[in-house]
Amino acid sequence: MRGYPPRMADGDKTAGARGGAGAEPEEAYTAEPFVPRRGGLAALRRAAAGCRGCPLHRDATRTVFGEGDTSARVLLIGEQPGDQEDRQGKPFVGPAGRVLDRALDEAGIDPGQTYVTNAVKHFKFSRDPAHGKRRIHKPPTLREMSACGPWLAAELALVEPEVVVVLGATAGKALLGSSFRVTRQRGALMEEDVHGRTERLVATIHPSAVLRADKDDRDAVYGGLLADLEVAARALG
Ligand code: SF4
Repeated sequence: MRGYPPRMADGDKTAGARGGAGAEPEEAYTAEPFVPRRGGLAALRRAAAGCRGCPLHRDATRTVFGEGDTSARVLLIGEQPGDQEDRQGKPFVGPAGRVLDRALDEAGIDPGQTYVTNAVKHFKFSRDPAHGKRRIHKPPTLREMSACGPWLAAELALVEPEVVVVLGATAGKALLGSSFRVTRQRGALMEEDVHGRTERLVATIHPSAVLRADKDDRDAVYGGLLADLEVAARALG
């Protein structure tokens, strides 16, 4: 494992510091002061549980950190935890996770030998009075994605994947910038600088798009996801 990217010393972590004396750490919009300099996945997960790098931790139940094989050849990145992930504290445990596992398996990538995470580690939602207590997913802003970036940088440095699979537009914007378009860039092997590392990436739709598709279109949407994952599988050689 390589060292994590340079960041503030552990002793500075509680400073909340970038917003100045007395400022809340959330106002600085960066997770960087919370990311430990050393330690493996367990240390990262422990530290992320107390992250206050942006305001999203206030309403969510818990941090949902990445999970899986830290020697995985494939690292998959989604948008943010959903309702089920927020409740269970694990990424991709809901219906979209089951679609993803099936597609990975069919593409020839063992889901058990991947590392899965999200660009943003807290669930962002609103409560629509018309839906009672139901929490309605809200996409994170570029500022929130950027705030959470240091966790993703630490995960990439830890896993050192051979291929990164970008699941959906939000993850693509978090990694590749606001001009990313999944419709234009999906299904091709790209090589880009991400958090100081040169990564090979394949973009595709988020698996929840399969669930949202009309019944008549669902097979075709799933087929597109599978075809893109097959590109990632072939890139592994
Ligand atoms: S979303 Fe990311 S940066 Fe914001 S509080 Fe959660 S873990 Fe920290």
